Amino acid sequence: MLVQFVCGYRDIDLRDSFGLGHGSLIADHGSPGVRQKWIPRLRAGELAGIAITECHGGSRPAETRTQAVAGPGGTWLVTGRKTWISRLNEAAVFVLFFRTPDGRLAAAAVDATEEGLRRQPIPPTGLAGWAWGVLELDAVPIRRDDVLDGSGMRLLRQHFAGYRPLVTATALGGAAAVFDTVTARLSARQFSGELPRLRDSALITLGRAHVQLATALLGTVMASNVAEAGGAEAELWGAATKAHGIDVANTTVAELALLLGASGFRADCQTAKIRRDLNGLLYADGIHDSLYRAAGKHHVDGAKTTVPPPRSRLESAARTA
Ligand SMILES: Cc1cc2nc3c(=O)[nH]c(=O)nc-3n(C[C@H](O)[C@H](O)[C@H](O)COP(=O)(O)OP(=O)(O)OC[C@H]3O[C@@H](n4cnc5c(N)ncnc54)[C@H](O)[C@@H]3O)c2cc1C
Repeated sequence: MLVQFVCGYRDIDLRDSFGLGHGSLIADHGSPGVRQKWIPRLRAGELAGIAITECHGGSRPAETRTQAVAGPGGTWLVTGRKTWISRLNEAAVFVLFFRTPDGRLAAAAVDATEEGLRRQPIPPTGLAGWAWGVLELDAVPIRRDDVLDGSGMRLLRQHFAGYRPLVTATALGGAAAVFDTVTARLSARQFSGELPRLRDSALITLGRAHVQLATALLGTVMASNVAEAGGAEAELWGAATKAHGIDVANTTVAELALLLGASGFRADCQTAKIRRDLNGLLYADGIHDSLYRAAGKHHVDGAKTTVPPPRSRLESAARTA
């Protein structure tokens, strides 16, 4: 997971460098045939996109409207409209979430060259390394083999428990790069005599930013470990540490960037790009009010069914860490 931190340090656009990205859904839940088709290609560097979000709101995947109907030869034909889809042009395969003819939420691996797929790219303000926009499906065929094993909602939950820490580590890597840029620039200005002394306010910002980024990263490492171990609270930790880590990355970078002065406002400045990318991550892979809400609900529901009072629940989190 820390590989993604290093990738993010170089460029947040390197966010699926480690592992199979969304292709891990295919690796973990695909039929032998679908795994054989896609895993070697994904291992060789091709990308898997994920198509969940629809116009009615990405925070409500349970209300997915993209619908399959029975087609010829036991296939399903899927029709619908997915919005804000990343890797729109680059993905070799999409993990598509849709309703089966009997109304269940399911996921399938859909070849990006399949007839019936139409794309409308939309220029994004950040995370522009891959194309982004609308993916329309017009009677796209899905064979029995393409359908992933398990209920769509369970697949989503399991997948994002492991995927969100990777994204968060990438974002924190980007924020760490800004930290180093700002620190190096202040040191150089002081060393050259341009600044006779560094203001306390700048030093406080640096001290606070460093510990905030380090503790957010530690939380992310813990979430990743819980997910790898298949822990019962993996989804909770992946969601809460994603929301927290990306929030921390955004707020610390906003404060640090001020220490660069107007030079940090140039469009070609790497810090300005990182800020745009971090802004996109407030939405991509889960909007934060939904993620914090899910975590809050877990604590309340857990307290209803288990005896330990809140203090003991925090203690148990500390033991997990
Ligand atoms: C850069 C980027 C990349 C992305 N990549 C992908 C991708 O590859 N695949 C994919 O499927 N999606 C992708 N998304 C979409 C992303 O997952 C969604 O933006 C996210 O899930 C939130 O959905 P939404 O934008 O539709 O917001 P909504 O779900 O509409 O939420 C917007 C706001 O409305 C609030 N809200 C919702 N319901 C209510 C209510 N009943 N009452 C009051 N307030 C409410 C929410 O809490 C939130 O604050 C990407 C987004 C971005 C920005």
